[in-house]
Amino acid sequence: MSTLLTTARHDAYAGVRDRKLAAVLTAEDDAEETGFNPLERISCRIHRRWLHQCVHSQAHVIAVTGHRWCRDCQCPASVSVDELTGTVTVRCQRCLRTPDGPATRQLVRCCRASLANAQDSRR
Ligand SMILES: [Zn+2]
Ligand SMILES: [Zn+2]
Repeated sequence: MSTLLTTARHDAYAGVRDRKLAAVLTAEDDAEETGFNPLERISCRIHRRWLHQCVHSQAHVIAVTGHRWCRDCQCPASVSVDELTGTVTVRCQRCLRTPDGPATRQLVRCCRASLANAQDSRR
């Protein structure tokens, strides 16, 4: 039974060409089941990509927690990722400031880790 479940899970990411990404997706899915915070993920379950590759999607705006969200303006923030320098910048689309707080720091940290892992797997 447990073997079947494992096989099904691996199949779920069979179409992901980056095998390291597929491995990280699987590992983070598993970790979530034992309490790993989904907001600490560096791979994205919805988009099946590295976090920094899909963080631009509306699905990554979480007003409740303040992820990609400016509380002052009640407005989504954009994320820019410079793959060469590894710089990740979060900026409110209205006031153009970086939303201050733990959610922004977490998002920047996870995007940097995602970028580093993706670059490793390309070597
Ligand atoms: Zn995503
Ligand atoms: Zn703002």
